[in-house]
Amino acid sequence: PSALREVLIEVPNVHWEDVGGLEEVKQELREAVEWPLRYPKAFERLGVNPPKGILLYGPPGTGKTLLAKAVANESEANFIAIRGPEVLSKWVGETEKRIREIFRKARQAAPTVIFIDEIDAIAPARGSYEGGRYLDTLLNQLLTEMDGIEENSGVVVIAATNRPDIIDPALLRPGRFDRLIMVPAPDQRARLEIFRVHTRRVPLAEDVDLAELAKRTEGYSGADIEALVREAAMIALRRAASSASREALESQSEEFLESLKVTKRDFE
Ligand code: ATP
Repeated sequence: PSALREVLIEVPNVHWEDVGGLEEVKQELREAVEWPLRYPKAFERLGVNPPKGILLYGPPGTGKTLLAKAVANESEANFIAIRGPEVLSKWVGETEKRIREIFRKARQAAPTVIFIDEIDAIAPARGSYEGGRYLDTLLNQLLTEMDGIEENSGVVVIAATNRPDIIDPALLRPGRFDRLIMVPAPDQRARLEIFRVHTRRVPLAEDVDLAELAKRTEGYSGADIEALVREAAMIALRRAASSASREALESQSEEFLESLKVTKRDFE
């Protein structure tokens, strides 16, 4: 139990250039998180109150976690990550204590980004779930902690969800998660950039045409593209080839396209 109680603080090794596409989202995060964490005095002087909470929403695998890590790292901030479903399964009986502890550690280690992945699991709209008392307590504790964050204190909470529609509206009030940022599925240009990110350290056969692959992977998320590249590299490894061949990348892309249509439809 003592190991469970540890709040893990990390410094993620993710940079802005590891995030393909999403230029507008990155710029928004620079202004809303990086600048205030780096230059708190300037914000105070100008009387500008940066957001305490930011909600990233959009389809699965589009880089929400990646963005949170990148903005923490680029802000030279510490990073504490929690996952909604994990809170429910592992923290029973000590949830309030743990949430308090996380925010206390975050203040201590400031500047700190607290990242709550799949927040919809712990903060669904009240009345929309069974056995709600436990979740109510949890949500109230979270709201109390959010409300308690002082302006320019160097603590920012970033949450992520695929289901912004089911989140309790109390979370979205001013001073809480009042900045909503949509993280969209990548278009062709963004897919090309994501291919470039994930093939940076993968030797490619000379005839591999990433632009063509980007065109043919309509509906792919960043996570799908990463998986595709990894699979092509594995095929090369199995064949003891020295580079990922064009066939491997392209045949994979056909297969993935099939499976992906399902995922996409699920989201819409
Ligand atoms: P989920 O909603 O499923 O939690 P997410 O939006 O948080 O997904 P990430 O965990 O950030 O998605 O993405 C999973 C992996 O996919 C990342 O580790 C990264 O390798 C890759 N990936 C996703 N989007 C991008 C992107 N825009 N650029 C580069 N890599 C990406």
